[in-house]
This record gives sequence, C-alpha cells and structure tokens, in this order.
Amino acid sequence: MNFALTEDQKMVQDMARDFAKSKIEPVAMALDESHEFPEKLIKEMGELGLMGVNIPEEYGGAGFDTVSYSLAVMEIAKGCSSFAVTMSVNHLVCEIIRLYGSEENKQKYLVPLASGEALGAFCLTEPQAGSDAQNQKTTAKLSGDDYILNGKKAYITNGTYSNVFIVTAVTSDKDAPKKEISAFLVEKDAEGLILGKPEHKMGQCASNTIEVTLENVRVPVANMLAGTNGFKVMMNGLNSGRIGIASLCCGLSMAALDEALAYAAERKAFGKPLNRLPVIQDKIAEMGTLLEASKLMTLNAAFVKDSGSNYAKTASMAKYFAAENCLKIVDEALQIHGGNGYVREYKIEKLYRDARITSIYEGTSEIQKVVIARQMIR
Ligand SMILES: Cc1cc2nc3c(=O)[nH]c(=O)nc-3n(C[C@H](O)[C@H](O)[C@H](O)COP(=O)(O)OP(=O)(O)OC[C@H]3O[C@@H](n4cnc5c(N)ncnc54)[C@H](O)[C@@H]3O)c2cc1C
Repeated sequence: MNFALTEDQKMVQDMARDFAKSKIEPVAMALDESHEFPEKLIKEMGELGLMGVNIPEEYGGAGFDTVSYSLAVMEIAKGCSSFAVTMSVNHLVCEIIRLYGSEENKQKYLVPLASGEALGAFCLTEPQAGSDAQNQKTTAKLSGDDYILNGKKAYITNGTYSNVFIVTAVTSDKDAPKKEISAFLVEKDAEGLILGKPEHKMGQCASNTIEVTLENVRVPVANMLAGTNGFKVMMNGLNSGRIGIASLCCGLSMAALDEALAYAAERKAFGKPLNRLPVIQDKIAEMGTLLEASKLMTLNAAFVKDSGSNYAKTASMAKYFAAENCLKIVDEALQIHGGNGYVREYKIEKLYRDARITSIYEGTSEIQKVVIARQMIR
C-alpha cells in the first residue's frame, strides 16, 4: 500500500473538505434540531461528483478510486454524518447496479444515481429480518414478464427521496428445499410501493429512514439482478457499503476529536487549561491513536478493493474497528466537555447521538465478527 495520496485523491479530499466546511457545518446543528432532510445540499453534492465518486465516468460517476471515495466520505462525515450516510447508501446502490445490472439497467438507473440527479435505497432489512437477513418474508412471484412483489422493508435509508430501490424478495416456493432470494430494481412510482413516515431517530437526524411496503408491486423481469443470486448481490453490496460506513466513522471521530481538543485548550480547571492535565492528555493520546488506526484500516480496505482482491474481511474489520472506536472517541470527547457535553448547545452532544448507530447499521459489530471469523476459519 502506498501511503502517499495521489494528486487526484488529494483533490477529491480537498473538494469534499471545502464543501463540508462551507455548506454542511453551518447548517448541521439546525438540521439536527429540525430533522429536515437537506435535499438541496445533497443535489449540490451530486453536481460536484460526490454521489458517485468511484463510479466510472461512462456511468455518470466521477471516475475516481475507492480510496478517493473513502477520503471524501470522511470529510463529509466530519461536517455531518447524516450527509455521509445518505452518500454512502447511494454509493452502495450504485455499486450493486455497476456489478450486477444489465447495460440497460446501468443506463436507466446507474447514470442518474451516480451523477446525483437521483437517489437510491437499499432494501434488505425486514421487521423480523435484520442480522438474520435470510429470514426474508417479502415474496416475488412470476406473472408473465413481471414479478409481483409483496412484503415490508424496515429502516430504509433515503427511502422518501429515492428514485430507485433495490429490494430483496424470496423467489422460491414455500416448500422448496432451498430458499432462493432475488434482488430487484423497483422504481419509486411503481404502483403499490408505499412509503412510510420518516422514523424519529436518536441521531443522524438529517438522514432519512422509513418503512417501505410493497403491495402487489409489478417489476419487469429485466429489473432482476443476478437471477436467484440476490442474497450474494446484497452481501457483496454490503462489503462495499462497509467501507463507506467505516469512513463515516472516521469523519465523525475526527469531528469529535477536534471538539475535544478545542474545548480542552479553552476550559480551565485547577488554574490551567484542561489539556495540561495528564489524565486529559492520556485521553487525547488514546483518541488520536484509535482514530489513526481506524483511518489506516479503512483506507487499507479501500486500497484492497481498488487492487481487485477479495476485500470482504478487510472491509468488515475496518467497519467493526472504526465503529467501535468511534463510540469510544465520542464518549471520551464528551467526557472532556464535562456537564457542557450533555447539553444541546455543544456539538459533541450531537456527535455522541450520531455515532450510536454506527455499530448497528450495515451489519452490527457482532455480525462483522461473524463475517471476519468466517473469512479466517476455513
Ligand atoms: C438508522 C438506520 C438506518 C438503516 N438503514 C438501512 C437500510 O438502508 N437498508 C436496510 O436494509 N437496513 C437498514 N437498517 C437496518 C440495520 O441494518 C439493522 O437494524 C441491523 O442489521 C440490525 O438488525 P436488527 O435491527 O434486526 O437487530 P437484530 O438482528 O434483531 O439484532 C439484535 C442484537 O442481537 C445481535 N445478534 C443478532 N444475531 C446475532 C448473531 N448471530 N451473533 C451474535 N449477535 C447477534 C445483534 O448484533 C444485535 O446486537 C438501518 C437501521 C437503522 C436504525
């Protein structure tokens, strides 16, 4: 791995950093309060190429590598992780269509998603099927040239604002010896696609999360991805998604560390700034080290993906490590703020709430360990 960033990687990082500083940071606290989805700013991110950073230019993307993508997500997440999760899920949807879509699917769906004209959603989770993702109840029955989909999907990021949804459904008969799961591209205007109200969340309040119900939704056979290998489609998509979430964790941790450093320099206790106290210095050193390790693991996963090797293990390790340590870093950063960290006026209170989801979505930390061990024990 070459640790020096290329000119392109630095350029993407700088551009994302500038956007986060000038456009996201000034509104992040207000959006957290109002729970408003920043539709206009997400569109602006699309215009800058930030909604398809590592998607080839011929499919509407900016044509950079996964390392550039990871660096961009870190900077956007430093501004506000709600923007980063919106971006990361869109990239996950793009990646799946790039890998498994037909040329027609790519032209119709990938080009608008990667160029930021449209937004995508990934619909795997159901009320009874989260970690146990194979326990799907949504069904797809063939009827002429269409499949008819029925079921319910839970906690769907970007749902209200998405133009295209990748939806999994069981295509085998109830008593078939082996359960077959397929993945379909469903358009937002499809009859019978019912979008629920946004969930009222603890954190990442400017991201959108809804329940999606499918009632006799007709989907053309041409919108089925990789036949009955839909589960593999979604798992491979999640491998790439995990690099996005690991990057988000790094960005969020960067913001928390900055807040802690600034506060510890300003706040005085026992006649000197907090940052002169050995216990606080110990916390700062620990946070800085954990963040550095998270960044290296995340960029390494992106590098392994770019090199064309199997990156399932490195992506899960990065997501697991960056999420768990993001929780530690925001917690210590809040601790350094004392009582002030517990009130809404201080940004660290938002970062603390925003961080809590990172060890849960796109596979909990427990599930990351299952994935990692599976790759290690042959
Ligand atoms: C804000 C938000 C956004 C989301 N966005 C999306 C999205 O866009 N698309 C989508 O499809 N889903 C999405 N999800 C769903 C998310 O991926 C699931 O919540 C997550 O996978 C966990 O599933 P669960 O909630 O059903 O928990 P459960 O699976 O019920 O797990 C409960 C607990 O048991 C543990 N556990 C379960 N099985 C095992 C095991 N085998 N070994 C060890 N421990 C285990 C878990 O780690 C967890 O701690 C989102 C969720 C949230 C809250």
